[in-house]
Amino acid sequence: MKYKTLNNGVEMPVLGYGVFQITDLEECERCVSDAIDVGYRLFDTAQAYGNEEAVGRAIAKSDVPREEFFITTKVWISNAGYEKAKASIEESLDKLQLDYLDLLLIHQPFNDYYGTYRAMEEAYKEGKIKAIGVSNFYSDRLIDLAKFNEVVPAVNQVETHVFNQQHQAHEIMEKYEVQHQAWAPFAEGRKDFFENETLNQIGKKHGKIAAQVALRFLIQNDVIVIPKTTHRERMVENFNVFDFSLSDDELEQIAVLDKKESAFFSHYDPETVEYITGLER
Ligand code: NAP
Repeated sequence: MKYKTLNNGVEMPVLGYGVFQITDLEECERCVSDAIDVGYRLFDTAQAYGNEEAVGRAIAKSDVPREEFFITTKVWISNAGYEKAKASIEESLDKLQLDYLDLLLIHQPFNDYYGTYRAMEEAYKEGKIKAIGVSNFYSDRLIDLAKFNEVVPAVNQVETHVFNQQHQAHEIMEKYEVQHQAWAPFAEGRKDFFENETLNQIGKKHGKIAAQVALRFLIQNDVIVIPKTTHRERMVENFNVFDFSLSDDELEQIAVLDKKESAFFSHYDPETVEYITGLER
């Protein structure tokens, strides 16, 4: 596994496993156990996914030492504000059966996220969280938060894949020393992702499939990835991206796939904001 050093010195694996939309808790526990077996150590969950307990159970029953894991969870909008976030951090630790989190993110840039961030800074200083960061913060809100808080976010997790490469946002993250992490590195299969001709043709030259080329592209562009699959054989495929390298020419061919827009929604769209802020966890 390769690691990135975050702005506070914490080492984060460049590849992990995400558990969004694995809502059946037994299935989620099985998936995380399989992923641990395959070699994944970074796990990405969230209060809003409703499966922190399942992730915790799989970690607790594995033989892998705690310090080898890198566990991320996220505070949902309904837990925003200093007091609620403080309580919700304890709740997440409890559900995950952990003494500390490796990374805690503000899931969405809505409600009192300044208050949330203060609770996170406090828990960070107490050693309950090794690194704190944000998710879905577009550049304007990221700069605002980074400028007016003591601890600069270590990570910003945003939608990133070959069809929405986020180069502008990446430059701002680099400027503020915030590590770029991708959610939906396969765009959840949208836009015929796995059938894409460019990805498949490049893959053939390396004996790889489209999914592996797509992950490798992001990793070579300094983006941390957390693909999700419930299939063990795909976990293996997605993990095997460190035995080949894309040439400058291949990186260029993939760079032009960028549509510079979301495959899902925009956090600037009022209807989307109304929808997301109305979701209960
Ligand atoms: P994704 O990883 O882009 O795509 C998952 C889809 O790809 C699933 O349908 C999966 O199918 C399929 N797949 C995976 N590996 C494959 C392979 N090797 N070959 C063919 N198909 C494959 O989508 P995502 O789950 O939305 O994103 C990944 C993680 O990012 C999430 O799990 C979550 O941790 C995080 N995330 C965060 C946010 C946020 O707001 N912060 C939002 C979305 C996601 P099967 O499962 O059927 O194999």
